[in-house]
Amino acid sequence: MIQLTPSDQCPYMNTAVGEKYDVIVIGGGPAGATISALLADAGKSVLLLERGLTPRFHVGESLLPKCYPTLKRLGLLDRMKASAYPKKFSVQFVTDMGKVTQPFYFDEYIPHESSQTWQVERGDFDQMLMARAAELGATLRSNAHVMDILFEGDRATGVKVKLKSASGADEVKQISSKVVVDASGQSAMIANRLGVKKSDPRLQKGTVWGYFENALRDPGRDEGATIIMQTPGKKSWFWYIPLSNNIVSVGCTGSMRYMFGDSNLSAPEVFARELAKCEEMQRRLEPATQFGDFKSTRDFSYRSGKTAGDGWVLIGDAFGFIDPVYSSGVLLAMASAEMATDAILDGFSTGDLSGKQLGRWNESYAAGLENFKKLVYAFYTPGFSFGEFFMKYPDYRNHMTDILMGDVFKPGVDEIFAKMGEVIPPSDLEPEPEMAEM
Ligand SMILES: Cc1cc2nc3c(=O)[nH]c(=O)nc-3n(C[C@H](O)[C@H](O)[C@H](O)COP(=O)(O)OP(=O)(O)OC[C@H]3O[C@@H](n4cnc5c(N)ncnc54)[C@H](O)[C@@H]3O)c2cc1C
Repeated sequence: MIQLTPSDQCPYMNTAVGEKYDVIVIGGGPAGATISALLADAGKSVLLLERGLTPRFHVGESLLPKCYPTLKRLGLLDRMKASAYPKKFSVQFVTDMGKVTQPFYFDEYIPHESSQTWQVERGDFDQMLMARAAELGATLRSNAHVMDILFEGDRATGVKVKLKSASGADEVKQISSKVVVDASGQSAMIANRLGVKKSDPRLQKGTVWGYFENALRDPGRDEGATIIMQTPGKKSWFWYIPLSNNIVSVGCTGSMRYMFGDSNLSAPEVFARELAKCEEMQRRLEPATQFGDFKSTRDFSYRSGKTAGDGWVLIGDAFGFIDPVYSSGVLLAMASAEMATDAILDGFSTGDLSGKQLGRWNESYAAGLENFKKLVYAFYTPGFSFGEFFMKYPDYRNHMTDILMGDVFKPGVDEIFAKMGEVIPPSDLEPEPEMAEM
């Protein structure tokens, strides 16, 4: 059964913590666990501090095929293949007119095992990544709330952390390191502290989601597909992500004003209001039973104005998050962790742990991020139809498949946006020049 509450079987809650490390990583999500594993494997002393008890619940269950190279580098492919996670071969869209469109099958495009990915239960998946970091030599400590980053001038020198012991007593400790990696997710500790976190005014969205048992699934290789269903007038859209144990994650996203403008409505009422507009989702949930609480979140699209400074670097959601529609979060968390690992290791070898060195991957990463973002803007553009676009420009379906698979760093993948600019005002595909300060 899906882990909706933190476990009391947390394996890292009593780990002894030293005074000094090469690298301190804040947060044990996919970004923090990946970078801890890779740096420890390269011989660095790494301390990962996670404020929660693990495994802990987290939304974001659908992976993209391009997670494959990172999972391989982590030595986790065999564990993924042996897992009970449903295999995801495709993503499918249902339009706002209720038309069920042809799935994007990744293996028709790249006939290699890497084009298949998985739908994961995040408490379990993140725990597997953390366990790998521990196997490779990182020190992991959960129930460890980082309260502040320590700086000498502009250089980060460590953290101040509150460690809860098994007896419940708190110990506040200062621990030093040559590099601090902020992988604190939406807490975005450093970006908030520096006041450089900027929200995306075009993506002020809110989401309500829940878990269902026994919903209708498609047969065969479509069984593990992500399905995105828009409601009439593109007012909102649903995700349908099949998990193991016959459970499905179902969420609905729309503008914050549309979703939560009526403050009298509870999260289940908002979900029910939108479900009444989506026949395809009604059909799939008809035999299903919902369990646990509905959850909601809002205003999650932002990015930091800086990637790195002397002795510190931001990865994953601590740097930025776009939108849930293309399931890009875990891929970007792991990709940024990998890019930052290489920059940090080179920095240690040359003795250069400046912001310029630690953030040297920023430009190519930001370009990949922009590719996801433009496709998100197109998805939300009123009147724009991907179906009509591909009817007119069939050659560009490959570019779309690249992005849906997470291959956003591939040269030339952005050519699709020049074409889209012929049917959507090009300015609608560009981010606002200055995103609003948060
Ligand atoms: C509604 C919604 C749906 C989504 N669906 C998908 C999806 O289907 N597929 C997908 O790939 N992505 C999805 N995402 C995005 C995905 O969840 C995130 O992008 C991903 O979890 C980012 O990983 P991360 O490691 O950067 O951060 P997180 O996974 O959030 O990890 C950050 C960790 O830092 C810890 N932390 C925070 N502050 C502190 C502190 N002060 N001290 C110590 N620890 C701290 C937190 O407890 C947490 O464990 C979705 C996001 C939303 C909002």
